[in-house]
Amino acid sequence: MKIIRHPTDMQRWALEQRRAGASVGFVPTMGYLHEGHLSLVRLARARAEQLVVSVFVNPTQFAPNEDFTKYPRDWRRDERLCREAGADVLFAPRAEEMYAHDASVSVLEARLSAGLCGVSRPGHFAGVCTVVAKLFNLVLPTVAVFGEKDAQQLRIIQRMVRDLNFPVELVACPIVREADGLAMSSRNARLTPEERAQATCLRRALDAVEHAFARGERDADALRKIARGAIERAPLARIDYIELVDDESLDPVVLIEQPTLCALAVNFPSARLIDNTVLRP
Ligand code: AMP
Repeated sequence: MKIIRHPTDMQRWALEQRRAGASVGFVPTMGYLHEGHLSLVRLARARAEQLVVSVFVNPTQFAPNEDFTKYPRDWRRDERLCREAGADVLFAPRAEEMYAHDASVSVLEARLSAGLCGVSRPGHFAGVCTVVAKLFNLVLPTVAVFGEKDAQQLRIIQRMVRDLNFPVELVACPIVREADGLAMSSRNARLTPEERAQATCLRRALDAVEHAFARGERDADALRKIARGAIERAPLARIDYIELVDDESLDPVVLIEQPTLCALAVNFPSARLIDNTVLRP
């Protein structure tokens, strides 16, 4: 496995691969890899001749009050896991080399970013779109894999690829969970034991919503209330949002008649957690 640090070296390698006719799979991550990331890596590995994994904690997608400096990092472990998973390249640029000091161009998605995490994390999706666009230009992937864990991010990247004609196929990977249902996340490492025990409330809320939906409940407010009840049983959990939105447009829904994304964000004292499920009538 090659480790590439410089954006220009990354692009040179990618151009060589593409000129030679090789397909390139790509999994962008912020590192501190877990089984969720590795499921993306395996999917990409199976779909391309060359596989690039990036580890880059992108400063521009964190607001000043967010956890950029506290974001968990473990370079040695990430390197070993990428090697074991069969990556050909681990791309780990430094922020100073990714962004010119006077960088002034970014990618703004104007509709899907407005709600859900976009409300409490202003600027977050501009940071995400811009870094993913840059990574696509450096890695030149034929196929890129993203997780359904970050449902809004996935839909925004799909929109960006469609609207800006990026020549890349996107593949979505299902959410990988711990045995007790908590969606795997690098941020889980920051939870105290007490918070970790209570963090199962997100999955329990989604379970309750899915059960009510299966029994025929179609009223979004009623489902939101059910989710709220489940989360409020965890004393350390503070609800950021519980939303039911159209799975494509991410517009709020009142009655569930189309595939609907039920998305949650919950603040614990040590970390903000998200989870989601899609309800299909
Ligand atoms: P991150 O390192 O958090 O930026 O995540 C990198 C990629 O891994 C994103 O496409 C995430 O959606 C995906 N991912 C993170 N956690 C999970 C999970 N538990 N299951 C599936 N995909 C995940």
